[in-house]
Amino acid sequence: MTAVPVVIGVRAPVAAPDAAPVPTTGALVDTHGRVHRDLRISLTDRCSLRCTYCMPEQGNEWLARSSILSTDEIVEVAEVAASLGIRTFRLTGGEPLLRADIIEVVRRIARIRGEDGPVEVAMTTNGISLAKKLPDLIAAGLTRLNISIDTVDRQRFADLTRRDRIDDVFEGIAAAAASELRPLKLNAVAMRGVNDDELPELVAFAMSVGAQLRFIEQMPLDAGHTWDRSTMVTREEILEKLGERWQLDPVPGRGGAPAEKWRIDGGPHEVGVIASVTAPFCGACDRLRLTADGQFRNCLFSNAEYDLTAVMRSEGSVPGQRADAIAALLRSCVHGKLPGHAINDPSFLQPARGMNAIGG
Ligand code: SAM
Ligand code: SF4
Repeated sequence: MTAVPVVIGVRAPVAAPDAAPVPTTGALVDTHGRVHRDLRISLTDRCSLRCTYCMPEQGNEWLARSSILSTDEIVEVAEVAASLGIRTFRLTGGEPLLRADIIEVVRRIARIRGEDGPVEVAMTTNGISLAKKLPDLIAAGLTRLNISIDTVDRQRFADLTRRDRIDDVFEGIAAAAASELRPLKLNAVAMRGVNDDELPELVAFAMSVGAQLRFIEQMPLDAGHTWDRSTMVTREEILEKLGERWQLDPVPGRGGAPAEKWRIDGGPHEVGVIASVTAPFCGACDRLRLTADGQFRNCLFSNAEYDLTAVMRSEGSVPGQRADAIAALLRSCVHGKLPGHAINDPSFLQPARGMNAIGG
């Protein structure tokens, strides 16, 4: 079965570069030779914050609760994905810790064994309620954590996230720093006139807790569609500001990782930059995404989705007996992946979903 992607934007996705049939066996290799090893699973589109670059303050259209994948459904998909070579599952959202069954989700995915042994279960979180949940998450098998923090200034944090909760985030980071999870990564979106004067301070904060700061170029993925290239702080600018304080030496061996890394003053600390806009890294991308409402996506910026719920929730679909159909859908999704995103193309159209509903 070849799945037909549902086009959710107004621009039709460009067809896969050749008319080769979708493979029916082997690993998840796309038509450009990229092997897919990483599946990001969004557990919810809801969030405890309202970051300006991600969600509108009010009036967000939430996914219907009935459309959200259940834990059983997520685990079933993860098992199939692992059998096709996915090694890392990153749980995200929205805010993954808002999901009431988060510990069970982690525990059940962590039990899955791929071709090369147990899979990795990572999470990207805003850190709120992390301190309370971390011991259970680790006991359940969580292996890696990324925590987002764009500013260490209380008022800025409240303005930027529209919630006065920086203490909860600090508490989450402190708990993570005291845990055995390493490397611990902190994510910050660099924004002009918002936090671009505290980039070194953010790095210093990360170093003080034994974490690695990764700056992210702001991407056109806000639900309010307000992204403006002129307010985006570029990789070049980030490096220039950090270079005024430290000597930065490139760390080789990036592989398929989104972040380019630099060693700070000879090490051991490092800082990363994820330059999706000015230095795209699509050529080595090994990532796929599953939205909370059961849509596979082959790129953050894609306008096409592959409907898993049509496979899992159609009449007569029996849990445990649809692995082949799920695998076929994943293969179609991989096969339809374009060589790169088109953010820098004048015809680029922002995806209809905001980052919180895609899964960052
Ligand atoms: N709520 C969790 C968090 O904030 O870490 C997980 C979901 S969030 C969508 C995942 C990551 O995407 C965060 O690090 C966030 O800063 C980043 N992000 C969200 N919107 C973005 C945008 N428009 N451009 C760049 N990064 C963005
Ligand atoms: Fe929530 Fe994360 Fe989006 Fe901020 S970036 S609004 S914490 S989902």
